Amino acid sequence: MTCNTTFLGLGAMGGALATASLDADRPTIVWNRTPHRTQRLAGRGATDASTVEEAVAGDGVIVACLLDHRSVHDVLDPVAARLSGRTLVNLTTTTPSEARELATWAAGFGIDYLDGAIMAVPAMIGGPGSALFYSGSAIAFENHRALLDLWGESTYFGTDAGMASLYDLALLAGMYTMFAGFRQGAAMVGSEGVSATDFATRAAPFLAAMTGSFASTAAIIDARDYAGEGQQSLEFTRSALDAIVQASIDQGVSIEVLRPVHDLVRRQITAGYGPQGSDRVFEEMRSTR
Ligand code: NDP
Repeated sequence: MTCNTTFLGLGAMGGALATASLDADRPTIVWNRTPHRTQRLAGRGATDASTVEEAVAGDGVIVACLLDHRSVHDVLDPVAARLSGRTLVNLTTTTPSEARELATWAAGFGIDYLDGAIMAVPAMIGGPGSALFYSGSAIAFENHRALLDLWGESTYFGTDAGMASLYDLALLAGMYTMFAGFRQGAAMVGSEGVSATDFATRAAPFLAAMTGSFASTAAIIDARDYAGEGQQSLEFTRSALDAIVQASIDQGVSIEVLRPVHDLVRRQITAGYGPQGSDRVFEEMRSTR
């Protein structure tokens, strides 16, 4: 028999997760701070809980998909003492430290805690390309795989509850800086009247092709050997960045996004590493904890 699954938070993402549960004919309980958001799913057969206490009254897994770390405490602190022995899957975006704090907090109440990070938008949930990262309780991950796999490809990153979030935010760091670079390029060609739409047709295949070099870059970083054969030198990269920065200035485009990239390379050259490979900037970025 499948136990009830409780969903706390029926925003765009929480609604998509709960919908997938209903689509799989699982008994589903829904709660949302603003009540009207539960109506659509109640109409499809979900149990509409009017309070958090009511929502968590059963014995099934509890799925939280709220705004942020603070809202998880706002919702669950008042009922935590009643949740001993229950499993909480928290899919709210948090930092790794916040996820670890929640794992410690949950352990204090005897709650089995699995942290999750969603690498998809709501429309993708349950469809191709949807991936979710998990870390924290291994037992919770194994016991609830049938539920987790409804939403997308499930990957478990170990018992440190912060790891799913760390992977999530590391990937988003790459995505946000890539989009900033795309906007920089669009502003550069846009200064001569070229549309961003036209630029995108060139940028997408070029940047996709560039990702092919991630593996060789990663091998250099992992070996921390920046003096090997065939690496693009810091001096070469500075020369390219000098040209990109100057072209932006000449076209009247901001260099705010380029400046930190340029500075990292220039600092490495000033420190005497000019002939070494450009991946050496990683040495300035990596954690020294
Ligand atoms: P929404 O803004 O659509 O929904 C936010 C939800 O959190 C609502 O249910 C809202 O309730 C609730 N909420 C906010 N603050 C509180 C509080 N203090 N107490 C109780 N409930 C609260 O966001 P999403 O559903 O899109 O996102 C939810 C989580 O999923 C976020 O952490 C987000 O980062 C993550 N996520 C979202 C993705 C997306 O593409 N949307 C992608 C990947 C992750 P109310 O309706 O009452 O305001």
